[in-house]
Amino acid sequence: PTTITDEIGIALGNLADAAAAPFTPTLRLGVTGLSRAGKTIFITALIHNLLTGGRLPGFAALTEGRFIGARLAEHPDAGIPRFAYEQHLAALTGKDPHWPDSTRKISQLRLTLKFQSKRWVSGMFGPTVLNLDIVDYPGEWLLDLPLLSLSFAEWSEQALKRAALPHSQAEAAAFLSEIAQTDSSKEATDVDAERLATAFTDYLRRSREDGRALSTLPPGRFLLPGDLEGSPALTFAPLPPSVGPVRSSSLYAMLERRYEAYKAIVVRPFFRDHFARLDRQVVLVDTLRALNAGPAAVADLETALTDILSCFRQGDNNPITRLVARRIDRILFAATKADHIHSSSHDRLEAVMNRLVADAARKARFAGAETRSMAIAAIRATRESVIEEAGEKHEVIVGTPQAGEVLDGRTYDGKTEIALFPGDLPEHPDSLFEDGRPVALNFLRFQPPQRLEKNAEGNVVLPHIRFDRALDYLIGDWLR
Ligand code: GDP
Repeated sequence: PTTITDEIGIALGNLADAAAAPFTPTLRLGVTGLSRAGKTIFITALIHNLLTGGRLPGFAALTEGRFIGARLAEHPDAGIPRFAYEQHLAALTGKDPHWPDSTRKISQLRLTLKFQSKRWVSGMFGPTVLNLDIVDYPGEWLLDLPLLSLSFAEWSEQALKRAALPHSQAEAAAFLSEIAQTDSSKEATDVDAERLATAFTDYLRRSREDGRALSTLPPGRFLLPGDLEGSPALTFAPLPPSVGPVRSSSLYAMLERRYEAYKAIVVRPFFRDHFARLDRQVVLVDTLRALNAGPAAVADLETALTDILSCFRQGDNNPITRLVARRIDRILFAATKADHIHSSSHDRLEAVMNRLVADAARKARFAGAETRSMAIAAIRATRESVIEEAGEKHEVIVGTPQAGEVLDGRTYDGKTEIALFPGDLPEHPDSLFEDGRPVALNFLRFQPPQRLEKNAEGNVVLPHIRFDRALDYLIGDWLR
């Protein structure tokens, strides 16, 4: 439950936004997604495209000639790390182009955009200025929201039940046997707390490994601790109900206190100070990876997305959601890395994305936020071609697999370009797993584009798929 102090905190935060730039409107765009979904690439491409007026036919302000330009502005929040744009761009466009390091914690960057308004009154006074604050944060952190309304006992029950599910067994076995050997009513020690927390974190981590790609397991900071690594608030684990009354010196009581500390120190401030101040949100989803990993991963992703979306939903009974969701009016679900499939499947990927968030999106819409699904590649690493084999034409993608990638027993060296038949997505998302088997995709990670075109001003042009449309949906109406 929220408190009046939260309310005041948020009100003050909003006031501070206004005070920092008295006359310039500010649009705060949240970019989130589970780890490796593509946030870092998305934001780097977003900034670069706006700074250089990239190739964006679907971005109306640009094609209508009203977008004048963008520049990097002074960092507005001294307490939040700045998004390392220059470093990430250098990794992608330097001499030896490679993918940059991923998002591990929250970061932010402000762009100032200048445009000619179409609106009669605003347009009369020359160009209009808009601050675009891009806020990057791990989607894992959103999965923590439900914890605010769960007691330690309730959370433990859920978490242990989930660990015991058949499809979690392999990952959870070691953790569950630690729990079984632990008497939580005995005197608390840090050694025991650490042992359990380590076993629990290992289990969470293994569920996320390649091939498993499971995603829905709070607490979010256990895998992405940010600056809190090793602190007591991150050193706990779920426990079976204690038998009899809980002594305050027992292990059970200690872990319960740490769980409450996690909520107070980690979860609540994140929602109050960051999430509650967003106007727009893009949720990036590595849908193809889940499809490739099979039905369990997709079902799991669907649950994670529903949980994530419940954070944006207004008007239900949870006072926190009511509080934090009041500003976000548009949410984009973007299936990333669409360059891994042929363009003939892009609409199908969008349909799958739509299907995955259908339930949750309906509720968000009902509560006043508009949602849309798209299939995009913020940076396109492949091109398309057609190969004829025995008189039959195959639509393929051409790219350079990253070093160490394996397909059909062959290991790639990171230098060899190949043509790959990526596989088709089914025509209708309902027939995804008809026989319970994964969709037959050939899924390889590719190197980023190695030779980039330059525009007339000498700026690198980043190739993409439908990124212009995503941009138009996210900020276009603020540039009218
Ligand atoms: P984050 O953890 O959400 O910040 O994920 P990143 O943005 O770092 O992306 C993780 C990885 O996904 C990158 O290292 C790339 O290998 C891949 N990736 C991200 N975006 C794209 C894209 O548009 N196209 C392709 N081919 N790969 C991408």
